[in-house]
Amino acid sequence: MSLNRATGQARAQTSSVFAVTACFLLIALVLTGLVTHVLTTMTRSANEMDDARAGRAAQAGVAALISRLSGTTTDNAVWDDAYSAIGSATAADWAYTNWGKTSANYPLYDGVAVIGPDGAVISAYSKGKPFQPHDLFGEAFDRQIEAAAGPRQEPVINFMKTESGVALVASQAIQPFTPGVELPKLSVLSFYKELTSDVLNTLSDEHELEELRLAPVPPQNLLSTPVRDIDGVAITYLVWPSKAPGTAVLHNVYPYIATAVVILVLFLGGVLFAGRSEARRLRALAEAARFEASHDSLSGLLNRHGLLSALDHLGNSSNTAMSLYLIDLDGFKAVNDAWGHAVGDDLIRIIADALPNCHRDIAAAARLGGDEFALVQVGFATREEVEKAILDLFMEPFKLDGRTIEAGASIGSAASAADIAPLELLRRADMALYRAKENGKGHAVAYNSALDQDRQRIAELEGELRNAIGSGIIEPAFQPLVSASTGMITGLEALARWPSARGNISPEIFIPLAEKSGLIDALGIHMLRRSIAHAKNWDGLTLSVNVSPIQLCNPDFGAQVIAVLEDFGFDPARLTLEITEGVLITNPDQARRSIDQLKNIGIRFALDDFGCGYASIGALRQFGFDRMKIDRSLVSGVEAAGNGADVLRATISLATALGIPVTAEGIETAEQAAVLRDAGCDQLQGYMVGKPVSADEISRKLLQEDLRWERERA
Ligand code: C2E
Ligand code: MG
Ligand code: MG
Repeated sequence: MSLNRATGQARAQTSSVFAVTACFLLIALVLTGLVTHVLTTMTRSANEMDDARAGRAAQAGVAALISRLSGTTTDNAVWDDAYSAIGSATAADWAYTNWGKTSANYPLYDGVAVIGPDGAVISAYSKGKPFQPHDLFGEAFDRQIEAAAGPRQEPVINFMKTESGVALVASQAIQPFTPGVELPKLSVLSFYKELTSDVLNTLSDEHELEELRLAPVPPQNLLSTPVRDIDGVAITYLVWPSKAPGTAVLHNVYPYIATAVVILVLFLGGVLFAGRSEARRLRALAEAARFEASHDSLSGLLNRHGLLSALDHLGNSSNTAMSLYLIDLDGFKAVNDAWGHAVGDDLIRIIADALPNCHRDIAAAARLGGDEFALVQVGFATREEVEKAILDLFMEPFKLDGRTIEAGASIGSAASAADIAPLELLRRADMALYRAKENGKGHAVAYNSALDQDRQRIAELEGELRNAIGSGIIEPAFQPLVSASTGMITGLEALARWPSARGNISPEIFIPLAEKSGLIDALGIHMLRRSIAHAKNWDGLTLSVNVSPIQLCNPDFGAQVIAVLEDFGFDPARLTLEITEGVLITNPDQARRSIDQLKNIGIRFALDDFGCGYASIGALRQFGFDRMKIDRSLVSGVEAAGNGADVLRATISLATALGIPVTAEGIETAEQAAVLRDAGCDQLQGYMVGKPVSADEISRKLLQEDLRWERERA
């Protein structure tokens, strides 16, 4: 999974979790808001409606009081008997008998006053006792009497302040029931009723106004209605507490609301918790994906992607010099082959642990592939110091489960500069590493522009080689293989020759190039065809053709060789394929398959360059080689004193004892020829017995040899 895809997916998922959680919270909050609004509106409306009802009830109560006292006053004032009695000399007595006495204990009024047309008090009793209306009610009473003095149907009625409280006072002119003639200024009858607690209680009961009382100013928390005097000024207030039925209902349902709120809070808490843990889980997943995408699973170091990011980051964030070191393990493949992949993996882990700590300047470490590591140095230590620190790690063999494993390292490094992108830095270090490996094991090479030029030259050469193979310029030269006993040519080895515009290019250069660039299969088959085309004419002689290990690993190789032999009608028994030992180690199974297939039709195999590598006599037997060719490097040392010659002799006798004939390569002197012949080699090859020459020259040489042979027989 790519880093961007993994983190992008996780980020999108985290965002959706946040969005869903936020939606839940929002919906819950909106619902809570709506329900709260509905509840408060209902509570407030119910309270307000009841308060309004109570207000109306209070006013109705006051109106009832007024109406009752008005009725009583009219009943008594508009009365023929009263009119004539008050106009008589016994007015005071009459008034006392009919009204004053009654006031002592009468529910309809607490006091009565009869004021004459001249304003004099004719009779005034309060609760059965005489009193002075003016003293009790003040000048408002006088004004009311004045207003009521004319004949009229309705009494004048007002609340008035008294010493002990408030009283409702109704006044009406005492007049005959049936008004006829124009009446003079009349006496006025006044009844009053005090707003006592009993009156208020009655009012309370009649109008459902609990705790009704009077208050000089309306308290904030109580409902009220003003009681106004003759001037419209509020002299007291009827006050009572609101019943607040909405609030009462709210209180009743409060436990349910509280339970619902607790459930909602728990639900929201749950949603939040679930959302948070899901987001945390996704974040952890994203983190893991990011780590996975930028790290190597085996070693835990950065991978290639992580290394490029680290180079980018370190390059941008520090002003100090930065260098990249690529490290390739030498001999790691042999470790895998010898001990298995599990041990190889353990070795990788041990090295991965050690590399980042090998020098204090190492700022990042990565594993780029099988046995390739990278270190980023940020600091002022010299390249040599860092290279030494790396190579020191490989000085001692590694101890692994009781095994002692030797491994080395090749290093390619490149220094960063302002305008070098991470990818280019990696390319440069890679090129340096490539060169270091070409130079052999344990080498360290720093990038310089000459490497690029070399790479350029190699690329050009590769192009030329491709053309050369296509156009058939590459031709075999043939080097004689002679019998050690008779000196007669018994066979010929085909060696590729490339006469290019730059002069002859050695096969030591273009064969490895063909191997690296994938041209070796085409070149190998071309060489086989050309060699057989010539060798067909050289009856009785064997033909040896060199085969690259890479060709041998191609599963089609056997079939291709057989097809060429069939094309030319060439006897397979005359063909020997020379292979070097490398392939026996790197790809033994495929090598064995190809060898067996071709040996079955009679082709022979020779192990080339024996003695300069690791191949053993055992390998010779194991793979069924028909011949062993001793490498020139061993042959050239044969004359020198020392046990090298003895070892060589012993090797040759061992091979011959096993029935494997031996060819000595690179014979340059007669002495070498003698020593190797004595040692048991049955075939010699080298400049002394014949240099590689063209096919024509070989034909001429063979003709001469035939003539000589015939002369000698004659
Ligand atoms: P090789 O197969 O071991 O061939 C012998 C090499 O030693 C040849 O070098 C030959 O010219 C050289 N030689 C022979 N006798 C003497 C001597 O007395 N003194 C010295 N100094 N050198 C001697 P050459 O032709 O340069 O080939 C080098 C290698 O290139 C060959 O080693 C072989 O491994 C490879 N090669 C050549 N042609 C082909 C080919 O067609 N296909 C493949 N796959 N490899 C080839
Ligand atoms: Mg050879
Ligand atoms: Mg050789």
